[in-house]
Amino acid sequence: MKEVAILGAGYAGLRALRELQKQSEMHITLVDRNDYHYEATDLHEVASGNQPKEKIIYPIKDVVDTKVTTFVQDEVKKIDPDQQVVELKQNQPLHYDYLVVALGFESETFGISGAKENALEMVDVETAEKVYDHIKAMMEKYKETKDKKYLRLVVCGAGFTGIELVGALQEGKTRYAKIANVDPAEIEIYCIEAVANILPMFNDSLTQYCLDYLNKWNVHLLTSSPIKAIKPERVIYSNDDQDKELEAATIIWTTGVSGSHVIGESGFSEKRGRVMVNDDLTDPDHENIYIIGDVSAVMDKESNRPYPTTGQISLQMGEHAAKNIERQVKGEPKQDFTFKNLGSVASIGNTHAFGYVGSTGVKGYPASFMKKMIMNRSLLKTGGLKEVMSKGRFDLYH
Ligand code: NAD
Repeated sequence: MKEVAILGAGYAGLRALRELQKQSEMHITLVDRNDYHYEATDLHEVASGNQPKEKIIYPIKDVVDTKVTTFVQDEVKKIDPDQQVVELKQNQPLHYDYLVVALGFESETFGISGAKENALEMVDVETAEKVYDHIKAMMEKYKETKDKKYLRLVVCGAGFTGIELVGALQEGKTRYAKIANVDPAEIEIYCIEAVANILPMFNDSLTQYCLDYLNKWNVHLLTSSPIKAIKPERVIYSNDDQDKELEAATIIWTTGVSGSHVIGESGFSEKRGRVMVNDDLTDPDHENIYIIGDVSAVMDKESNRPYPTTGQISLQMGEHAAKNIERQVKGEPKQDFTFKNLGSVASIGNTHAFGYVGSTGVKGYPASFMKKMIMNRSLLKTGGLKEVMSKGRFDLYH
């Protein structure tokens, strides 16, 4: 019986697992450091304290069919593609015939001094919870000291993640203000962005919709302001060729992501933790290794640039890689991956959102509704109906 190992139980890994479990000609081993799957696209909800972590996680065992799959909770240290072995932190090395690498993303600091030490990350459930705990602690400190820096929240980077986080923080303001015993208007939210025009993937009307809300909420969006360094409770950025400083007790780092460090440490040919895979999603040097999700780069032939890493493309890659493994086992030719872009929607708070459904621009309640349907769809694709029923978003107006 062929051995398939899947590394990572995120969108890509779990989707591949569910597809492979439909047939029983292979034995599958799924490895993840956690015993739960989390919705990476909803981390801002936990970081802002708007949702408890239980709302965005579910147990991996809910998805594992123990007749064909063994789940190993452990950390992947390294892959040896030539020996076909995966080194784990605690368990014996894992041998495979086919490997699916879906190890996900890490925060990218671009070597900016002090970012790792002095800013908070939001890359998994643990770090998202830390952000909220930190905000609460700073609100308590304000009560003792009356120092305004404790009421100042800074989001570094106005990409998708940064903007969604800003929206969630805005929504959390009333709760934070209660702890600090101040008016919500006294909580200041800053978002500092290197480029002049945020969210270039959206048309002007959609971007304006977002900017209008930020404006209405008095969010201080500083564009053309690349961050140069983070010092304790201080962001150093430049604007108009001048170095400027902003003092704040909460600094959250969302300036972009790279793929898992395991990719580079395993000797794959990579750039920022991502491997430019073959059209069929295999590693260029190993046709039994599929590299999918945030550790993978797939060229969009239209733009001649890799597709952005999203939950949506990860789900499609997971399904495709699993089907290609089934084809390989049966001795059939593998097929090339084509990405069907269903659109992308960014939320700003629970009831406002904007983006594209297919190629149609949407904003406001319809977009917010679509965003929730997208979340429910990804729950269905990875976890199944049970997870949609218990964790799905059906509260259309709140
Ligand atoms: P990103 O790379 O898309 O955005 C990072 C932002 O930080 C950019 O605007 C960049 O200009 C800015 N930045 C970088 N260095 C900076 C510096 N030194 N100073 C100031 N600003 C700086 O990263 P992301 O937002 O984490 O998103 C990662 C991926 O996940 C993207 O592909 C995104 O599309 C995807 N994503 C999708 C959704 C969704 O579909 N709803 C949500 C979140 C993320």
